[in-house]
Amino acid sequence: MRGVRHRLSFSAQKGGRDKGMAGAYCIGIDIGGTYIKMGLFDAQGQGHAFRRTPSNASGPPETLFETLVRACRDLKEAARRQGGRVIAVGLGVAGKLDTSLGRVVFSPNLPHMAGFPLAPRLQEALEIPVFMENDANVFGLGEAWAGLGRHRRHWIGVTLGTGVGGCFIVEGSLWLGDHLGFVGEIGHMIVDPHGPPCACGQVGCLEAHASGSALTRGMIEALKAGAPLPEEIEHVVRSGSLTPEDVYRAAESGDPHARQLFQRMGWALGLALANLFTFLGIQSAVIGGGVSQAWDQFYPPMMETLRTVPKMLDPSGIQIYRTALGPLAPLYGAAYLAWTRLDGSEGPLRVEKP
Ligand SMILES: [Zn+2]
Repeated sequence: MRGVRHRLSFSAQKGGRDKGMAGAYCIGIDIGGTYIKMGLFDAQGQGHAFRRTPSNASGPPETLFETLVRACRDLKEAARRQGGRVIAVGLGVAGKLDTSLGRVVFSPNLPHMAGFPLAPRLQEALEIPVFMENDANVFGLGEAWAGLGRHRRHWIGVTLGTGVGGCFIVEGSLWLGDHLGFVGEIGHMIVDPHGPPCACGQVGCLEAHASGSALTRGMIEALKAGAPLPEEIEHVVRSGSLTPEDVYRAAESGDPHARQLFQRMGWALGLALANLFTFLGIQSAVIGGGVSQAWDQFYPPMMETLRTVPKMLDPSGIQIYRTALGPLAPLYGAAYLAWTRLDGSEGPLRVEKP
């Protein structure tokens, strides 16, 4: 994908990131179902200001768009106060995207944005180039630019949130496949053909075992089946407000059903990574997303699966890391997307020694 073709002429594009970019910033944006998060970044990957605003995902697309424009103008003003200027914007959005047109095709977290020409409209409003990529891809770019991926040439990125996303970094570059509008969709790799149904319509996907929604659905089903759950879990399930954090707390306090769900999650993640590692001949992954905070619950069963299932791999060489940038990784990656697409330097990132 080459980003949105901008009609305007920008002299600042010339010269690349390492030359003549003093005072220039890019805005990196992560548009989620609950919040729009954004940051102002220089060419070296330093964040200078961060903002968070509700995305009002259930409202009309124009409302989200206007919120986005206001927040971008606020960051442009922050750049101006520092004696600089914003020269481009990168957007990370969950779902299937038409990145050549800057359009959301379908986004489970932002259902009303389907068909909305988000990037061209934002470009028109801000009069600077706007580029868009899938949220898991910008997570990978963020870790590759400023996080743990800096030290590795080939690795798989996994994002654990409401769904499960993935990306593939090859020779330090984001793999984009045949530019089909999706790539690295590890969440829809089938790990159990007899497993639970997935939101995508398949059965037994990784996402149906290892996502935030799989955890909450698992607890709700346990309650429906008459399982004796902790009182506070029963209460939040009945009020319809159960979150993956509740399931994590229940597991931490020893609830066997919650623990079993994390066991299943770890097993499924381990199996999916074992398949990919064996197929690709690599052995590193970086895991992020909100549900990665439940690391101590799913990491042991994931590693146990990785130690025992793949026979081609030396288990001692497998390296699975937890995100270094946390919830900011997609912001870094979206800003990096803007920097690289702007100056056409989509080549490999510099891989540093750890
Ligand atoms: Zn699926």
